[in-house]
Amino acid sequence: MTRTSAAAAAAPMIPNYSRKRRVFTTTATTNAGTTTTTTTTIDENERQKQRQQNSSSSSAAEQFMQKNLSWPERTMLCGRLSLENVGARVEICGWVDKQRDMGGICFADVRDHSGLVQIVSGNNSNSSVDNNIDAVLSSLRAECVVKVSGTVRERTQKNMNIKTGEIEIECESIEVLNVVSKPLPFSISSSDEKSVSEEVRLKNRVLDLRRPKMMNNLKMRHDAIKKMRKVLEDEFDFCEVETPVLSRPTPEGARDYLVPSRTGDCYALPQSPQLFKQMLMVSGLDRYYQVARCFRDEDLRADRQPEFTQLDVEMSFTNADGVMEVAEKVFLAASGQNLEQPFRRMTYDEAMEKYGSDKPDLRFGLEMCTVNDILLNSSTEFPPFKNALDESRSSVKVLVVDDSKKVSNAKLKPKGEIFEEAVNAGSQNGVFFCRVSEDGKTFEGAKGLVEGLAGSQEAIIAKANASPGNLLLFVCGKTKVVNTALDKVRHKCANALDLIDPKAQALLWVTDFPMFEYNEDEERYEACHHPFTAPNSSDYEKNPDDLTKARAIAYDLVYNGVEIGGGSLRIYRRDVQEKVFKAIGMTIEEAEDKFGYLLESFQYGAPPHGGFAIGIDRLVMLLCGAKSIRDVIAFPKTTTGQCLLTRAPGVATAEQLAELNMKRIVD
Ligand code: ASP
Repeated sequence: MTRTSAAAAAAPMIPNYSRKRRVFTTTATTNAGTTTTTTTTIDENERQKQRQQNSSSSSAAEQFMQKNLSWPERTMLCGRLSLENVGARVEICGWVDKQRDMGGICFADVRDHSGLVQIVSGNNSNSSVDNNIDAVLSSLRAECVVKVSGTVRERTQKNMNIKTGEIEIECESIEVLNVVSKPLPFSISSSDEKSVSEEVRLKNRVLDLRRPKMMNNLKMRHDAIKKMRKVLEDEFDFCEVETPVLSRPTPEGARDYLVPSRTGDCYALPQSPQLFKQMLMVSGLDRYYQVARCFRDEDLRADRQPEFTQLDVEMSFTNADGVMEVAEKVFLAASGQNLEQPFRRMTYDEAMEKYGSDKPDLRFGLEMCTVNDILLNSSTEFPPFKNALDESRSSVKVLVVDDSKKVSNAKLKPKGEIFEEAVNAGSQNGVFFCRVSEDGKTFEGAKGLVEGLAGSQEAIIAKANASPGNLLLFVCGKTKVVNTALDKVRHKCANALDLIDPKAQALLWVTDFPMFEYNEDEERYEACHHPFTAPNSSDYEKNPDDLTKARAIAYDLVYNGVEIGGGSLRIYRRDVQEKVFKAIGMTIEEAEDKFGYLLESFQYGAPPHGGFAIGIDRLVMLLCGAKSIRDVIAFPKTTTGQCLLTRAPGVATAEQLAELNMKRIVD
C-alpha cells in the first residue's frame, strides 16, 4: 500500500557538504529493529577505517541486515518524488541502484518500479547524530533491499537527466531488509541488450525484468490491455468470457500442443478460442472478448512464441465494416494514437501485385508490377524470363527504385547484398537489373537482358511508371517465390536508401483474401485464414458448389509492415460450412468427427457473426519500440521453445508417464 505524504510547509534547506569533519542528525534502525537517535562528531580518519572494514567483507551490508523478517510499508514511491515534496519526511523502499562514497559523504540511488531517487547521509548541524547511517550507507552494494526514512531536500547540484534529479533524501534511518549473497550476473543499472547476451538475460529473467527498461515494457503492456478492455466494455458493451485451455484441436493451421490425459486420449491446447467464441455467438452472448492465451507448435522466429496472447473478439449481427470499426478503435486506444478512421484498405490482390506481400509496409513507396503480358506479347528471348513464362503459376515482376544512384551495381551483382537477399528468399537467378536511359524509352545495363527485352522496353517503362535514371529490378520464377524475393529486395532497398521515416505510422486493412491457398507440395487446397471464414457473397452466388476460387470476407490489420491482427465474417450455416470442409479435402465423416459440435450448434439457429483477434505481443513490441516479442513477455521461451529460467520443457518421470499409459522410447 502506498501513502502519499503532504509537502512540508517549511522553506527548503539546501545542505552544505563538508568533507572533513561532519555532524550528523540521524536515526538508525538497528538489527533488532529498535530506533536510536544520537549525536556524534566523526573524524574523517575514523570513517575511512570503518569503510575499509565494511568493503573488505564479502557482503558488508549483511552485518546491518535485520535479524528478523519484517514487512515494512512506505509512504512514497522513489520515482514520484519531486520539488513539491521538499521538506516532507518520507519513507521509501527499494533496491540500491548505485552507491557512491565521495570520501566523506555517501550517496546511493534507491530504485523501485517507479524510478529512482538519490539518498544521502545527513548533516544537520544543530542536532544529534548517529554514525551508523554513514556506515550502513557505505556498506550498501548494488541490489541490496532497503527501507530509507528521511527528509526530502533540494539538491545543490541538480541532475536534469533523471526525473527526481532536483531533489534527494537526507537519510534519518536505513533498514537493510535484504542483501545480495551471490555475484550478480550483470549490473541492473548499467546493462542493456548489447552488453548482455539474450541467453544470460533469459536465464536470469528475474534480474532482467528488474531493469527499468524491461519493467517499463511490462507496464506498457498492462496499460495497452487495460485501454483495450476499457474501449470494448465502455464503448461497445463487450463481455469477457474465459474459454477452455484443455480442449480439442482447433484448425488455425499450425501443429497442436497435445496434453496426454489418464484416459489415454489427449487434449489439445487451443491455437485460438475460435470455435468457442463462435459458439458463444450461437448462445446469444452477442459481444464476446477475451485476453486469450493461444498455443501453436510451429517453427519459431523472432516475432513468434509457442504461447502468445491475443485480444480475441467476436460479435453478432454486424458486417465487416462493423467489425473493422471496433478493431480500429481498440488499436487506437491501445496505441494512444489519434488517426483518422476508417483506416486505409487494399485488396489482397493489389497488395500482392504492388508489394509482393499481404502485409506491405506503406511507410515508403517502391512498387512493383507483373510484366508477363508484355513479355509474352513481345516474345522475349531472354532465357530466364522465357523459361519462367513457360511454367504454370510463374511470373516476371519488376521493382522500380527511383533514387537509383545510391544502389551500386556491386550490390546488385552475384554476391552483392541485394542479389543475395533475393537468392536467400528462394530466387534461383537472384535479381536482374537495368536502368532507364535518359530518353525514358530504353534500358541501359547488361547486354543479355537489354537485348532480351528489346521489344518490350517502352511498354515495361509505361506499366511500371518508371522515369529516366530509375533502377529496374527483375525477379522471375514461381509467383510465390518472386513475390517473397521482391518483397525482401524492396525492404533492403528502402533501408539502403533510408526511405523509412521512423515516426511514420502506416495502418492498412488488407481485405478480400482468397478463401484457399494451393499447397504445391501436398497438392491440395488449404484455408488461407481458417475454414470458418465466410466466402465473398457474389463469388458464392456465382459458384456455390466450387469455392476453391472464391474470395473470403477476411481482413488483416497491418501496422508498419507487421500483421498485428486479423479476422473475418464467419459461416453460420451447416450446409455452407460443409462445402468449405469439402474444398479442403475433408470428408463429411472427418468433419463430423472433428467439428461435429460446431456443425450441430449451427443447426440451432446460429446468428450471422464475425470477429477478429489482435496479437498483443506484437502490438506491444511495436509500441515499445522493442526488437523482439520476447522483450514484452514476462517469461518468454527461446526460438527452440525452451524456458531458460525454469528449464521447461522437462523430463517426465517414468511414474508420471505410466499414469498416462505412456512410455519414453527415445532418449
Ligand atoms: N482465430 C483467428 C486467429 O487466431 C482470428 C479470428 O479470425 O478471429 O487468427
